[in-house]
Amino acid sequence: MPELAEVELSRRIWDPALGGSILRVSLQARNRVFRGLHPAALTRALNGRTLMRSIARGKQMAFVFGDPTDPSGSSHWLGLHLGMEGSLHLEAASGFTPGKHDHLVLWQKQHALVFRDIRHFGRVLFHAGADEPAWWSALAPDLTSPAFTPAALTAFLQRRRNAPLKAVLLMQERFPGVGNWMADEILWRARLHPAARAGTISETEMWILWREVRHVCRESIRRIDADWNYPPSWLFPHRWRNGGRCPRCRTALLREAIGGRTTCWCPRCQPATTKKPRAKTVTPGRR
Ligand SMILES: [Zn+2]
Repeated sequence: MPELAEVELSRRIWDPALGGSILRVSLQARNRVFRGLHPAALTRALNGRTLMRSIARGKQMAFVFGDPTDPSGSSHWLGLHLGMEGSLHLEAASGFTPGKHDHLVLWQKQHALVFRDIRHFGRVLFHAGADEPAWWSALAPDLTSPAFTPAALTAFLQRRRNAPLKAVLLMQERFPGVGNWMADEILWRARLHPAARAGTISETEMWILWREVRHVCRESIRRIDADWNYPPSWLFPHRWRNGGRCPRCRTALLREAIGGRTTCWCPRCQPATTKKPRAKTVTPGRR
């Protein structure tokens, strides 16, 4: 499942097509990626429209189409979710023939904008109108935005105080786009054991966790431009290798399934805790 940074990277693939209008739409209407949609209506709506901008939030992308000559400013939103193995491609329009798994192709004069999904777990969404679609506004705020506050984090951890921290960080309704390796990186940086219950962490640890969530999200997006070159001071380059060592203290890393996912952590930097979850809500103090 693609994480935040991979989705951001995918979003940019169609950037050269910004400002160009759609001359034709071809799609495989019966494929399950279009579930709940009227593909014919989508085709009609996008024909002749210009690709104005695109945004990514967590694992969801939105491509906004408009008509620069339309004074109403009404826009059409195409939502794409990559599912397990969906991908975007930009092909030269001349000579391109859509393949079996190219479920949606938007043709411009020079480019063919392709959504490919071999396993069909992806999803296409669509909305026409001046307002943001509900499927977009319902997404949790970006973790790098001011809307993700320490108070919001505290409240969420308290509501799930009996769940292991690793499982909580994978909950997309609060941590959009955080996947397995990012959750491990965040907990390692915050020096928190992945199996510790969310309700056991102190006020100070809460602040550190909040800071590291933002740091890992911001940096992973920034560094995708550098060929996924995460520095050796991160857990990331070490967590994949059996026998990997903690880049901070050189202790052998451990791997075990926590929260249903293979988790990697340093037993020295992230010691297990025997604390019981607190019943009361903690209010974070001033920085
Ligand atoms: Zn360590």
